[in-house]
Amino acid sequence: MNRTPAFVATSSDAPLTLQTIQRRDLRPHDVSIDVTFCGVCHSDLHEIHRTGNKPLVPGHEFVGTVNAIGTDVTRFRIGDAVAVGNIVDSCGACAMCLAGQENYCVAFPTLTYGGNDRVDGTVTQGAYASTYVADEKFVYPLPESLDPAGVAPLMCAGITVWEPLVHWNAGPGATVGVVGLGGLGHLAVKFAHALGAKVVLFTTSAQKAANASELGVDEIVISTDPQAMTDQHNQLDLIVDTASAPHDLTPYIRALALDGTLVSLGALGSMQFDPMALLIGRKSLASAGSGGTKGTQAMLDFAGEHGITADVEVLPARDVNIALERLERNDVRFRFVLDMREM
Ligand SMILES: [Zn+2]
Ligand SMILES: [Zn+2]
Repeated sequence: MNRTPAFVATSSDAPLTLQTIQRRDLRPHDVSIDVTFCGVCHSDLHEIHRTGNKPLVPGHEFVGTVNAIGTDVTRFRIGDAVAVGNIVDSCGACAMCLAGQENYCVAFPTLTYGGNDRVDGTVTQGAYASTYVADEKFVYPLPESLDPAGVAPLMCAGITVWEPLVHWNAGPGATVGVVGLGGLGHLAVKFAHALGAKVVLFTTSAQKAANASELGVDEIVISTDPQAMTDQHNQLDLIVDTASAPHDLTPYIRALALDGTLVSLGALGSMQFDPMALLIGRKSLASAGSGGTKGTQAMLDFAGEHGITADVEVLPARDVNIALERLERNDVRFRFVLDMREM
């Protein structure tokens, strides 16, 4: 076993504390990674505040450097720069896995933290830590041209918006709406713009969208303005809704063009809409979550080619509780990333 410093949540309401945890000995296909940057995801907050899952080390979007490899590793060498997202294993045999959509594995994918290791049954612990150990299949080469800190959030927030954008054909000639300009939303804007789509941002706050055009937004719609929303009726081919607060989906369904699709990513617990809005224009309501190995690699290749990273605020890892507290009150633009070398 290898010991590694990590920030541990020991209860649902106490600050994380720096402790030492164990990482498994390397299996033949494992790589051990010195974590450099780890993004702070809304899921981390959610899992910290949940009861019954402690002790817990959060962190499931990170980059780092390979420091050791198992005997049968073929894809990486010591010293390689790599990235890991929120899935580190899956059954490998179901239809979802065979399609490269391990995120939908029918036997449930092994999550990067809070999951159950498929070999020894231990609970996985995340990358708010100095090192991480994972099977090479779920480890990706870090695109050389990109700032590593800005790549970390691509591994969860980025892939979550990338897969629906690509699946529903965001590209030249398409008009794509993005609801919300947070961690997911700002990456949806960047990817949709780079894919060649016209990008319409729906936001409650004109102030928040002040620099939206620099991200790739072509048009801003203030969603609290009923006339502005009416003006969008039947205009959009695809809408990626990243807003997490409960809200009525009907105005966005009405904003879809014929055969358009609204992909709800943020507010699944409280979906409300008028079904008649779907009927008029043969519209679809859909959802998606995270991504598989195939999509993640494609996203990283695209990000490398187009110079796309998340806009991040980097904090030393020792400020992890400040980052979590600021994220809680939405004081972030657009993602916190922890420098794990600064514990
Ligand atoms: Zn996440
Ligand atoms: Zn599977």
